[in-house]
Amino acid sequence: MEKQRGHVIVLTYPAQGHINPLLQFAKRLASKGLKATLATTPYTINSIDVDTVGIEPISDGFDEGGFKQAPSTGAYLESFKTVGSRTLAELILKFHDSALPVNCVVYDSLLPWALDVARQFGIYAAAFLTNSASVCSMYWHIQHGLLTLPLRPETMPVSMPGLPPLGFSDLPSFLAHPARYSAYLTMIMEQFSSFEQNDWVFANTFEELESELAKAMSGVWPLVMIGPMVPSAYLDQQIEGDTDYGANLWKPTSDQCLRWLETKPPNSVIYVSFGSMADVAAKQVEEIAWGLKSSNKNFLWVMKESENNKLPVEFQNSIDEMGLIVTWCNQLEVLAHQAVGCFITHCGWNSTLEGLSLGVPMVGVPQWSDQPTNAKFVEELWRVGVRAKRDEEGIVTREELKMCIREVMVGEKSGEIKGNAYKWREFTKRAVSRGGSSDKNIDEFVEELLKGKR
Ligand code: UDP
Repeated sequence: MEKQRGHVIVLTYPAQGHINPLLQFAKRLASKGLKATLATTPYTINSIDVDTVGIEPISDGFDEGGFKQAPSTGAYLESFKTVGSRTLAELILKFHDSALPVNCVVYDSLLPWALDVARQFGIYAAAFLTNSASVCSMYWHIQHGLLTLPLRPETMPVSMPGLPPLGFSDLPSFLAHPARYSAYLTMIMEQFSSFEQNDWVFANTFEELESELAKAMSGVWPLVMIGPMVPSAYLDQQIEGDTDYGANLWKPTSDQCLRWLETKPPNSVIYVSFGSMADVAAKQVEEIAWGLKSSNKNFLWVMKESENNKLPVEFQNSIDEMGLIVTWCNQLEVLAHQAVGCFITHCGWNSTLEGLSLGVPMVGVPQWSDQPTNAKFVEELWRVGVRAKRDEEGIVTREELKMCIREVMVGEKSGEIKGNAYKWREFTKRAVSRGGSSDKNIDEFVEELLKGKR
């Protein structure tokens, strides 16, 4: 490895879907010769197990339990801003007289105050987007007055630079229902208040995947597409030791999952997960359960402990060897297994990228946030799956789910979907391999830091 010269602090929001891509980015930078230090909160720090990057605590003011301890989302974010700015500054100072002072902060775009701290020290600052570049550009355009909230179903579709026309149900929930999500919307919009002052804006995506958007935003943002941030072993790359993310806020059940998957034929299993934040309505859980049962396929379902009581007892008693329900798994390991032939997903951005990277056809059952837009792209832009339709009560019924499963696994369109899934897997591997678009973009950034101008 080249002698380390630049030193980057990578600051993450303390949630699984944020730690994974930011930690992965830190590891990628370290593999290219920079010193990288991941900064995360005290209560998430013990969930991280990597040896190529430094790990340092940064406080959100709730060191025992984080977000759950805070009286409200607004209070949490305010505290993170105040206490986080101070502890980030202390962390930069701590390295000040070391052989490798910090010369860049890459921060989760949800924590925009980190830009001010970096500026205070005269070092480089870069935002890291954990949503798709497309979704972030929608927020940015709204923050810049291109469209005014609330958006109304009657005025659809909306058109924005670099994006296909979007219907009301394709919008991120924060835009479709701004009053319902006002604290989140404020947080989302704040990330763009001084956005243009960043030296780089990193997006966990790749140029081929969001090519129109890349064109539309070039020259508007200092946008650099560096993804997908998936451990390299899953993309057939040979970066030593890079076989998983290295962070688990919950304990995975790897052995149990792999042993069970080994007993199933290729492409026979449906993997079901709604990510780390899911709070799926009990009625919806019930419909998914019976939809799975009636599809007559094997399934592996991640159901967080807090959600387990939503499963109908009758269903639990009826599944036998056909289904395995676990509280958390190593998702990449599962998606990469040859037995898995379909991914029922909430379309969180990481899960979407992981499904795409591993070539697994998807059924999108989006819940909130950016997920509806991702699900639309899965179905219509990249054509690697379908999006389940909701009934008038907002529920994906068991019949609808059964039909979607059929469509991606055996139906008329399944051949085309599988072909596209394979194609995107190849594109993904190419983007991150030596000289691929994302790899080149990371190299250029590393080169700039190694020059040590700041
Ligand atoms: N994940 C996992 N095991 C699980 C479920 C999810 O490791 O049982 C990981 C998954 O691989 C992804 C992250 O958790 O990297 C979830 O991020 P995503 O953006 O998909 O959804 P969020 O949790 O933010 O809603």
